[in-house]
Amino acid sequence: MRAEIVSVGTEILFGEIVDTNAAFVAGQLPIFGIDLLYASQVGDNPARMREVIGRAWGRSDITFITGGLGPTEDDITRETVGEVLGETLAIDAEQEAHLRARWMNRPGAVMPERNLKQAMLIPSARAISNPRGTAPGWWVERDGKIIVVMPGPPAEMTRMWEHEVVPELEKRADSILVSRTIKTTGLGESLVDEMLSPLLKSTNPSVGIYHRSDGVHARIAAKAATREEAWHLIHPMEERAREILGRNVWGVDDETIAAAVGNMLREQGLTLALMESATGGAIASAITDVDGASDYFRGSLVTYVTEAKIIEGVPAEVPAMHGVISRETAEAMATAARTKLRADLGLGITGIAGGNEVEGQPPGTMHIALFDGTTMEYSLSRYYQGRKVAKERAALQALTLLRNYLMARAGARLE
Ligand code: ATP
Repeated sequence: MRAEIVSVGTEILFGEIVDTNAAFVAGQLPIFGIDLLYASQVGDNPARMREVIGRAWGRSDITFITGGLGPTEDDITRETVGEVLGETLAIDAEQEAHLRARWMNRPGAVMPERNLKQAMLIPSARAISNPRGTAPGWWVERDGKIIVVMPGPPAEMTRMWEHEVVPELEKRADSILVSRTIKTTGLGESLVDEMLSPLLKSTNPSVGIYHRSDGVHARIAAKAATREEAWHLIHPMEERAREILGRNVWGVDDETIAAAVGNMLREQGLTLALMESATGGAIASAITDVDGASDYFRGSLVTYVTEAKIIEGVPAEVPAMHGVISRETAEAMATAARTKLRADLGLGITGIAGGNEVEGQPPGTMHIALFDGTTMEYSLSRYYQGRKVAKERAALQALTLLRNYLMARAGARLE
């Protein structure tokens, strides 16, 4: 099946929003053996939309359109698809009832009549439900070709994709590609490659090694007639890879380091407190992105200026003697966070995210310390790609330090 993606929205052409919808859909299509041949972006302009959607209808078996389903005058994706197919739009009674019912749930809100356009269909389209928004999508099928129309907001689009579009694509696919990513730490890319070399010759499933910011990943991918059959191919290979990589494996698939750290803290019955300076709360933010973080996360003290660090328990003489951007200050921050917030583990981070040199150290320098009441772990890194990257990478480095500490601790407990 030859596919095409059309992203609708003038904001995309202005560079105001990044076309993550196209990236998402493009990333999903190989799963169903669908070849993506074209992807276009077009503004909310009737003539240009007709041109782009008309061309896609002419040359592609399946076209995925996102955006332009809102209630306003310039949301014209439905109208354009109708025009391209030469079909007339009409209000669908069931969709109208559905739309009105949704508005009834909003106390005091009256549905503007122009919103009725969201209940319109053409004869070749059926509505696909959008529980996260008001505009339903369209599944259009005619002359052996398909157009799938989905809303622009990514949360609505991905929900619709997973629940409505995937089952349809699976029905039509000759084969399904399933993959499992095993995430490791503590091993270089070439070492993982060498360790897994007996598995690398296999073609289905295939095994690929990738270096990522959170460690080296091994991706096992299998193609089969059904999802279940593909998993049957993956499971034994995953078992062998896990046996070889042993305790270096910290997670799979979409699992983040913050989630892995959270699971380990919970399993080991430990709590964590932070004192953050240069990261400005970024580590706390990553940790609290995970459901149930209050089970193990006590909190973070964001102490930006030296005085704030001292107020929160860093002895004044430490930054005075060693400088505020120093290993000693990071260690004192870890100790203070642990004591002040009554946690088992304290992590401190001090550095210079961007701007100019401080105390003779270049911007991007980050000192991180982790204290468990007995031992102190320490890490020094330098990032040269600017303030934003330095903060993100330092937060990742802090979580990596925690993950490695917790993995070593779990290992020591097993031995
Ligand atoms: P709505 O009913 O909310 O108006 P819509 O289907 O009309 O939805 P648009 O108005 O085109 O969608 O876009 C709404 C918002 O969705 C945009 O402001 C943007 O934040 C997001 N969005 C739209 N298209 C994309 C895209 N291709 N990639 C990422 N985000 C997008």
